[in-house]
Amino acid sequence: LSSKPSQALVAEEIKKIKVGDVKGLPRVIRAGASVYDAIVNMFIEDVGTLMVVDEEGHLEGVLSRKDLLKAAIGGGDLQKMPASVVMTRMPNIICTTPEESVLTAARKIIEHEVDALPVVRPVDGQGKKLEVVGRLTKTTITRLFVELGEGGR
Ligand code: ADP
Repeated sequence: LSSKPSQALVAEEIKKIKVGDVKGLPRVIRAGASVYDAIVNMFIEDVGTLMVVDEEGHLEGVLSRKDLLKAAIGGGDLQKMPASVVMTRMPNIICTTPEESVLTAARKIIEHEVDALPVVRPVDGQGKKLEVVGRLTKTTITRLFVELGEGGR
């Protein structure tokens, strides 16, 4: 039997879990969509963060609830305003990959003070174009925490 303290065992177990094991489905809108469309989409998909992609599905930006609130209180025609005007855009997006440890990804969420990370895969050698393959959110991490705590994982 191991004599390791239980905390070290927990840490070891958590480090083995990859983003790909827990990630959720990507929720995306097209870069050409309006702020109005983005708001409707956020309600329909019941998410707090939308990933914005080009026609080929490559990541262009991220839209949070507050990005859309800011656009809404600014006045103007939300049906005409492109969502890409208010999103945070590449290359300033904090991303994760299916292979990354969920612990590393969770640390990114804390350090960069964001609610969600796009899970991406590079589609070219330079890693400039990223395909969105999922999303990792604070809810994902909370669910994992509960599963670990209840011994379900
Ligand atoms: P909210 O703004 O609703 O509180 P966030 O804290 O996630 O939600 O977002 C804060 C800001 O950071 C927003 O402007 C948003 O566009 C941006 N943002 C959200 N997720 C990311 C990310 N993964 N990488 C970079 N910026 C992000």
